[in-house]
Amino acid sequence: MTIRIIMAGPRGKMGSESLQMIENEPNFELIACIDRINNGKKLNEVNGSLHLDVPIYENPEKCFQENEADVFLDLTIPDVGFEHTKIALKHQMRTVIGTSGFTNEQINELRDLANAKKIGCIIAPNFAIGAILMMQFAKKAAKYFKDVEIIEKHHDQKLDAPSGTAVKTIEMIKEIRESHKQGNPAEYETIEGSRGGEVDGIRIHSVRLPGLVAHQEVIFGGPGQTLTISHDSYNRKSFMEGIKIAINHVMELNELVYGLENILDM
Ligand code: NAP
Repeated sequence: MTIRIIMAGPRGKMGSESLQMIENEPNFELIACIDRINNGKKLNEVNGSLHLDVPIYENPEKCFQENEADVFLDLTIPDVGFEHTKIALKHQMRTVIGTSGFTNEQINELRDLANAKKIGCIIAPNFAIGAILMMQFAKKAAKYFKDVEIIEKHHDQKLDAPSGTAVKTIEMIKEIRESHKQGNPAEYETIEGSRGGEVDGIRIHSVRLPGLVAHQEVIFGGPGQTLTISHDSYNRKSFMEGIKIAINHVMELNELVYGLENILDM
């Protein structure tokens, strides 16, 4: 069965990689794109390297009205992705969201909308299978190590901090670890922010530098030992297998699922 896809963010780094993935996947067909420029043009007019003869729309409402698709894939920025997703769900379209940085309130609003309409929706802060395993291993380690800090490192164009993956990792660790303050109770900062952000005593540090893609270390400490669990995405190909799995899986769903780990056989 062919899965017809509408994608938002075709000029972005994730979007460009996904276009190639979709073009190479025999059961995927791109039928339209949403972008804030190039309205009315065809994708192959603005991106010479691709053979995709599909229309570009600036207006998502119009795009969803004029094109009958199976799945909407969003790879843009948080506020835009949130609005796109609401419109897609309103049009009864299953959605796969790679855009990271949604607030809990936004995720809950989308969950209410998708579940009420019984439409599949997958929001995944990280589509790299290795990153999903890194989070699962961190959750297991949290049973034995109660002190943990996270260092996440991303390219310097990333808008949200901490990363969606770091937030998700903390949520998973919190399922196991009891909230407590870490470090010296009397510790203080001579430069504001030195100890990073804090959730339930877990410290989180966000690095933004050119040259990086997406990297995370979860460092556990206990008497006489540390355990570091780390994952590195060196390029955006690392996310494509997860996106493929999500697009196929969302066809079977009738509710919102947050996190790729919930659809993988772990
Ligand atoms: P990017 O290269 O900056 O691409 C973002 C795209 O969104 C650009 O094409 C941008 O267009 C477009 N955009 C911005 N504002 C828009 C608007 N108002 N209407 C329509 N399109 C708009 O970023 P990226 O690296 O591809 O990442 C895209 C998203 O995926 C980010 O949220 C990132 O955090 C997330 N991400 C997720 C994963 C995962 O595994 N889930 C992995 C990597 C990245 P302009 O050029 O005109 O601004």
